[in-house]
Amino acid sequence: MKRSFSNSPYLLNQEANLSSISAHRPNGNSNSNVNNNDSNSINDLRLDALRPLNRRQFIGAGLATGAVMSSMAMTGCGTSTTFQENPNVVVVGAGIAGLAVANRLSRQLPNATLTILDSRKVHYYQPGYTLLATGVWKSADKVIDSNADLMPAGINWVQENAREFLPDSNQVVTDSGKKLNYDYLVIATGLRLGFESIEGLNLADLGTDGIGSVYPSPEIALKTWQQMDAFRQKGGRAVMTLAHTDMKCAGAPLKMTFMLHDRLIQAGTRADSDIQFFSPHKTVFSVPAVNENILSRWAAYDPAIGANFEQHLTAIDKSAKVAYFTNKNGKQSRQDYDFIHIVPAMFAVDSVLNSPLANDKGWLDVDKYTLQHKRYDNIFGAGDINGTPKGKTAATVKLSAPIVTTNLIDVIQGNAPSQKFDGYTSCPLLIEEGKAMLVEFDYENNLTPSVPLVDPLKESYFAWFLEEMMLKPAYMAVAKGRV
Ligand SMILES: Cc1cc2nc3c(=O)[nH]c(=O)nc-3n(C[C@H](O)[C@H](O)[C@H](O)COP(=O)(O)OP(=O)(O)OC[C@H]3O[C@@H](n4cnc5c(N)ncnc54)[C@H](O)[C@@H]3O)c2cc1C
Repeated sequence: MKRSFSNSPYLLNQEANLSSISAHRPNGNSNSNVNNNDSNSINDLRLDALRPLNRRQFIGAGLATGAVMSSMAMTGCGTSTTFQENPNVVVVGAGIAGLAVANRLSRQLPNATLTILDSRKVHYYQPGYTLLATGVWKSADKVIDSNADLMPAGINWVQENAREFLPDSNQVVTDSGKKLNYDYLVIATGLRLGFESIEGLNLADLGTDGIGSVYPSPEIALKTWQQMDAFRQKGGRAVMTLAHTDMKCAGAPLKMTFMLHDRLIQAGTRADSDIQFFSPHKTVFSVPAVNENILSRWAAYDPAIGANFEQHLTAIDKSAKVAYFTNKNGKQSRQDYDFIHIVPAMFAVDSVLNSPLANDKGWLDVDKYTLQHKRYDNIFGAGDINGTPKGKTAATVKLSAPIVTTNLIDVIQGNAPSQKFDGYTSCPLLIEEGKAMLVEFDYENNLTPSVPLVDPLKESYFAWFLEEMMLKPAYMAVAKGRV
């Protein structure tokens, strides 16, 4: 392990521009262009919570709230520990994963110097994109918040991205060329969407002319709904896709497919429409029990949703409205569409991919249980950047951020990491408007239901209610390190 125990909070090279480093104070740096919707969501929750619930659902909601509360009690702030040394910890990325770890560290390591790097001032609640792209939520404001409001007090926020990792000298180089020294590093950069690997497609095409994607941004999610809404007026042929790489929220393309089916039924055009789903794998979802459940639902619909395997989208001809898929032997097939949902390939961000920290697929090379880097034991990974077999979801962060924090503190104390992550992932899978399945699983594909009385393979209003009303407040609590 390479470490340099400096007493300096953050050492910059001579070109360092100190003005872009701010000692952050909560609520002191709000971006006026940003709407903080937390309170709106909670008000919505209060207003809507009781209206549609029957008694059984109401009991379930109470149990879920209890589960959240007990989970908060178990994994909340914990006791703070005062260390002799003053470790210098740098967190790269201020998405839910970086924030969750930074907030926990700020409480549990009061003597540490904490620095976070991220050029982005806006915080995106990405799980809400699915609700925007299917017409459930109407405003992008619901998914846009301010990172300043989520940062721990006293953290040094360097409003730049990391360009290069130099783990042998314990340094991170920022976009402007500053070198930041660290004793311990947490990498939480999320991932990169690779739309460029689809020939003939430009980002500007998304949300136009029958082309949609739930992934890139709130604005494109809203435009995707406009395309879906226009398509369902007449119906036609819909082509739904899946990435051939590891991807975040592998349930989102399935939610888009189920909701498209339902929106067509609502518009009275389902009988005139053909929905075809193309998967690069032999399945549409990696957990066998869930995969079988989905496929049998699709087969039972009239008309059925077609499932096509081992093909991925490689090119598109927008003017002819034709998509080209390639199978594992390199053979291309041609698919006409009136509406297409595009799921891009997903990759590690370049600064990790091109660093000594990457595994053979470019992701951060961490141990899947301890989330510690396999070669540099002063480095941990959190969130989507991790090269773990599963779990690019916010739900994974909820369970793994406390483990990363504890294991990092173990290492700072000179011990081996004590906690093991089991790969928990969860996804409220939308089946139709007002119904979802609450699917939870681990590295071994075991279903791991956490809410009593909720069958993970049966749709319920309760699971829909969780997705629409409770997920955002829970997400924010995770980002603040409280759940
Ligand atoms: C459409 C959609 C639906 C989803 N649905 C669900 C769901 O239902 N349930 C669920 O649990 N999860 C869901 N997710 C997944 C969830 O949103 C992600 O897994 C989660 O946001 C990952 O958190 P993260 O912090 O790792 O990455 P992100 O939230 O993507 O944040 C990464 C941060 O790192 C910053 N960054 C990037 N590069 C650098 C760099 N070089 N230097 C410094 N900073 C950098 C970025 O600016 C960003 O702020 C969904 C995602 C999408 C897109």
